[in-house]
Amino acid sequence: METRIAKVAGYCYGVKRAFEIVDKIAEQAEGKVSTLGPLIHNPQAIAAMKKEKGVETLTQVDEADEGIVVLRTHGLPPEVIQKAKDKGLEVIDATCPFVTAEQNKARKLVENGYHLFILGERNHPEVIGVMGHAGGKGTVIESLEDLEEMEKIPTKVGLVVQTTQKEATLQEIVAYLAARTLDLKVHNTICSATNELQSAARNLAEVMEVMLVIGGKKSGNTQRLRLVCEEAGAQSYHIETDEEINPEWLKGVEKVGVTAGASTPDFMIDRVVKKLGKLGFPLKQ
Ligand code: SF4
Repeated sequence: METRIAKVAGYCYGVKRAFEIVDKIAEQAEGKVSTLGPLIHNPQAIAAMKKEKGVETLTQVDEADEGIVVLRTHGLPPEVIQKAKDKGLEVIDATCPFVTAEQNKARKLVENGYHLFILGERNHPEVIGVMGHAGGKGTVIESLEDLEEMEKIPTKVGLVVQTTQKEATLQEIVAYLAARTLDLKVHNTICSATNELQSAARNLAEVMEVMLVIGGKKSGNTQRLRLVCEEAGAQSYHIETDEEINPEWLKGVEKVGVTAGASTPDFMIDRVVKKLGKLGFPLKQ
């Protein structure tokens, strides 16, 4: 019996960068440092940041009266950022550059007269932020079904994509729109980290019976990583911590694979691997 870890798993470039920004600010600042919204979608990593660096997480600008606020990795709508500045708070931007690029492309599409479609999760902070940067002038589509239900597709359409979406979903949407529009401009804003994570997870899931996909319950990229593993043929479970592993899942199983979303800290991957070892599935390097 064995455990194997996907070749790429856990913290991506944007998440590492955001923590580096927060660490540096927390070391240098004399006053209070907070993040506006959770810096990333992982409760254990956020709790560790509070414990080790004293950085608080705010849910809205109204909760901050002084000090520095750091903008979350997923980005925020411009009016929220402006509100923080108007309150006299010092604003530091830790938005992932891939998300900033998506926001800028969405804004430009609207400025150039395109009807903006954003492929992504309607209630995800990244999508809400992108819509804000496009002045609220756009339509969110979560799947092909959303397009099929529309009475009329505009003739001039611009498309941006939540950075953690699946490539296959994008291709489906593009094919549908290409056949129904006169002018279609597509910006594939899925980030390279997402592609690398999904491809490594797929490769491992193809040769494993069970996959454990570690990540925050609200982490969209972790949810999609589980789907990728399931589609590749492994029975796949989304867990946030090692305590959620159900030994029943592993009955009669020889090979267990582990992968983790872009916002999952290494310490949580280590805990899961350790627990699997105790259950009789040692790590095969
Ligand atoms: S998943 Fe991609 S877009 Fe999101 S933070 Fe990581 S690198 Fe940036």
